[in-house]
Amino acid sequence: MNYLLDNHGRPISYLRLAVTDRCNLRCFYCMPEEGINYVPKPHLLTWEEMERVVRLLVQMGIDKVRITGGEPFVRRGILEFLERINTIDGLRQINITTNGVLTAPLVPDFGRLGIKSVNLSLDTLDRQRFFDITRRDEFGRVWETFEALQAHNIKTKLNAVVMSGKNIEDIIPMAELTRIHNVSVRFIEEMPFNGDGAHEYQEFWNYRKILDELKKHYPGIYKLPDPAASTAYHYQIPGHKGTIGIIAAFSRTFCGTCNRLRITPQGQFKTCLYDDGVFNIKDLLRQGLSDEVVQSRVFEALQHRAKDGFEAEGQRKAGLVSESMSTIGG
Ligand code: SAM
Ligand code: SF4
Repeated sequence: MNYLLDNHGRPISYLRLAVTDRCNLRCFYCMPEEGINYVPKPHLLTWEEMERVVRLLVQMGIDKVRITGGEPFVRRGILEFLERINTIDGLRQINITTNGVLTAPLVPDFGRLGIKSVNLSLDTLDRQRFFDITRRDEFGRVWETFEALQAHNIKTKLNAVVMSGKNIEDIIPMAELTRIHNVSVRFIEEMPFNGDGAHEYQEFWNYRKILDELKKHYPGIYKLPDPAASTAYHYQIPGHKGTIGIIAAFSRTFCGTCNRLRITPQGQFKTCLYDDGVFNIKDLLRQGLSDEVVQSRVFEALQHRAKDGFEAEGQRKAGLVSESMSTIGG
C-alpha cells in the first residue's frame, strides 16, 4: 500500500472524477438555464483514459473514487466503466453522486458494480420547488431513486444546497427524513459555482445559521464525532435512525484535513475545489507519456498544493470562481 502526502503533510487518498459535464437538470445554483457551452466530445477524457488515470492514481495511494459530473448516468458507457474500475486492485471504495433522474432502474446493479454508497442530490421534498430549483419536473423519478436505494440497502446521503428564497422551508421536512430512514441528510452552503458568479441574497445561509434553524426545532440535537477528512459536521437528533450533516462548503472550514483530488471531464487536474486546474492530465496521456512520467507530474503538483480554498482561489489565473459546478463535480 502506497501513501501519498501533500506539501502540508496531508494524506491524499480520494479522487473525485467528473465523467461528463452534460446534465439532464439545470439546477439554479449550478448551471445557467440556457447558453451552456458543453465541452466538445473530443476534448473529454475517454472511458479508457479515465480507467488508466484511476489505475495510476490507485498505484500511488488513492483508495476511494467518487464518480460525479454533470450527471454521470447521462454518459453512455458508464456501467461498463464502473464494471472495469471495480476490478482495480487496491481501490477500496467506488461511490457515486447523482441527481437521481435516471438512477432508479440501475440501483439493483449497484451491488455487482461495487457501489456501496450513493450521494443523491435533493434540495426539496416539494414538487413545485423542485421544478423552480432544477428547472425540470423530475421530482417523481428522483424520489423513486431514493426509495430504490433504501430498498436495496445502499448507504445513502442526501445532499441539499440551502438557499434563501428557494428551499428554507425544506430544512425541517428533510431533517425529518432521518426519523425513520437510515439516511444522512446533508445541508450544504451554496458556493458561486453556477456559470455566472455569486447570487445576491438578502441572507446567506452559512453552516451556523443552518445549525441554529435545526436547534430551534430539535433542541436535543447533538454533535457526533466527525470521521477523519470529513467535510461535514455530523449531528444526531435523539431517537432518529439517520444522521444530519452540515457542510461549510463556502466558509471552507475543512481544508486542514482535505484528502481530495479532482479531475474534470476535460482532464483538468485540481488539487483544490477552488483552484482552476494545475495541469491537464488528458494532454499528458495524449502526448504518449509513460505511466511513470504521468505519476511524477501528479506527485509534483501535490508538492505545491494550496493550504486552503482561500489560498487556492487567490492563486487562480481566471479570477474568482464562477464556473459551473457541472464542469467540476462538486
Ligand atoms: N449531477 C450530479 C448531482 O447533482 O448529484 C453530480 C454532480 S453535482 C455538480 C455534485 C454536487 O454538487 C451536487 O450534490 C450539487 O448539489 C452540488 N453543487 C452543485 N453546485 C453547487 C453550488 N453552487 N454550491 C454548492 N453545491 C453545489
Ligand atoms: Fe446537474 Fe448536478 Fe449541476 Fe444539478 S447539480 S445541474 S443535477 S450537475
